Amino acid sequence: MPATSKNAKSGKSAPPPVFKPVKPKTAAERAARVTAILKTLDEMYPNVTCALTHTSPWELLVATILSAQCTDKRVNEVTPGLFAKYPTPHDFAAVRQETLAQDIRSTGFFNNKAKSIIGAAKKIVNEFGGEVPRTIDELTTVPGAARKTANVVLGTAFGIASGIVVDTHVQRLSNRLDLTKESDPVKIERDLVKIIPRDKWIQFSHQLIHLGRGPCVARKPKCAECRLNPLCYAADKTASPPVSPIMKAVTK
Ligand code: SF4
Repeated sequence: MPATSKNAKSGKSAPPPVFKPVKPKTAAERAARVTAILKTLDEMYPNVTCALTHTSPWELLVATILSAQCTDKRVNEVTPGLFAKYPTPHDFAAVRQETLAQDIRSTGFFNNKAKSIIGAAKKIVNEFGGEVPRTIDELTTVPGAARKTANVVLGTAFGIASGIVVDTHVQRLSNRLDLTKESDPVKIERDLVKIIPRDKWIQFSHQLIHLGRGPCVARKPKCAECRLNPLCYAADKTASPPVSPIMKAVTK
């Protein structure tokens, strides 16, 4: 079969078909595939961690709040000056919202973020003795710390596997890798924690975030560069996996 074929109307060459591995059919096959995905992610990203620079759980909480709708790079440009100006939660609790909003203006949505950070600081100072709490139930009572943010802080700052961080990358890739059929982050996390071993939860989130910022971008993923290709049958794959004698290829 030729690698390309001509479109009858346009005369242009059609791209070659993208071959995909057969979907697992049994629970054992699905479990083996998840194990293979985790092993490959460990090989691709052995030592990944959160890209937000911080020196304490409180700084990570603030940085994570600032990272909403903003790049980690921009947040990392803003936080050194911010933490020099306000070294402790007590300092943030005492600042006027308008003043803090101007300090964090370049991260976008600065009024809401300033309100959340000051609210978080007051809650942590008044109810948790100035220390970021270490349980998901307590941390999710802090303004600005919804479940995703709480999982980031507990996992990265404390090494506590409270759940799996489901951001936009984890959401997209979990669907592409058929680890869930859900689109709601809470339901995606519920599915992931059932199939990912707890000791992998923290690293798995970081690895998918790196994969999503690397080859598995939102539009036109670079599947030819991705080592998960032989395990992936995403609908929008852009390249076939390398030929494997044990792989049965299908085009649907
Ligand atoms: S093969 Fe393509 S779609 Fe699948 S995980 Fe890799 S980059 Fe994403």
